[in-house]
Amino acid sequence: MTETIPASATAGPATAPPLLSVRDLTMAFPGKRSATGRRGAPVRAVDGVSFELAAGETLGLVGESGCGKSTTGRMLVRLLEPTSGSITFEGREISRLSQGAMRPLRRHLQMVFQDPHSSLNPRQTVARIISDPLLVQGWSASDARRRAAELMELTGLIPEHIDRYPHEFSGGQAQRIGIARSLSTSPRLIIADEPVSALDVSVQAQIVNLMERLRRELGLAYVFIAHDLSVVKRVSDRVAVMYLGRIVEIGDKRRLYADPQHPYTRALLSAVPLPDPAAERRRERIVLLGDPPSPAAPPPGCSFHPRCPKAQEICRTERPTLQPVAGRDVACHFPGN
Ligand code: SF4
Repeated sequence: MTETIPASATAGPATAPPLLSVRDLTMAFPGKRSATGRRGAPVRAVDGVSFELAAGETLGLVGESGCGKSTTGRMLVRLLEPTSGSITFEGREISRLSQGAMRPLRRHLQMVFQDPHSSLNPRQTVARIISDPLLVQGWSASDARRRAAELMELTGLIPEHIDRYPHEFSGGQAQRIGIARSLSTSPRLIIADEPVSALDVSVQAQIVNLMERLRRELGLAYVFIAHDLSVVKRVSDRVAVMYLGRIVEIGDKRRLYADPQHPYTRALLSAVPLPDPAAERRRERIVLLGDPPSPAAPPPGCSFHPRCPKAQEICRTERPTLQPVAGRDVACHFPGN
């Protein structure tokens, strides 16, 4: 079932048409076959996700492993075909375009992956990796190579290393190569799927700084997917919290971190380490019961109710929809403290 999404917080800044508009996006994978060969019910990995993104804006997409955030990201760049819903990019509906019709749009819509080394072809030089999208678009080999060297410099790599192979670079450098590749076609939007989670903490900060700088200098917009709320706080303008395939809270980063309204958001934020040791000692941690349920068998009503410390009878039967609460949108019958 689709739900009416209030425009307040799912929407970005209202001054210009959104760069990206996502409505009721759903991904249902086929259910597993039983021993008798019968297929189980479809698994709704993403279940009616809606949001907008303005040019130059960063939306952080957070939630536990399996909440549907990466599946959402992959649908946005059409690496996965949505089961239903719409994706409008620069005013054009792209969710049903053929791969051929998508090709010219791909230059504006790129992806950065989690594991930099496994996302780079080990048999290709950096020159080839970065310039490949340009060659596909008809650039000459010499122009594409020159552009690759410029992008290496822009992303903090040494252009003289252009003929090296991915294994000759550290994890952080390999992620810089992935970012340089994503920038080769001058995109307007980058979907970054856990871009720093495979890196050491010190290297994470360097890559986050790089992405921030590139956003400012190039006017990029990001959908930044991560499970680390500290990283998301650093890079995002707005944040969407996902649980079991749905957005349960979305809004301005400062408001959401200062005063989370959904019990799940509160629990996630209570686990983020505080820089002040005294505040960390005073802080009460909210420990959730059990693991997230399987999307193959979501609980009725509010899907968070089996783990929610505030659950009441209505939560077991009626699914809450996103509603405006304290300057953001929240899907909970009893938001707030
Ligand atoms: Fe908890 Fe009920 Fe709100 Fe769901 S609707 S998050 S169970 S209080």
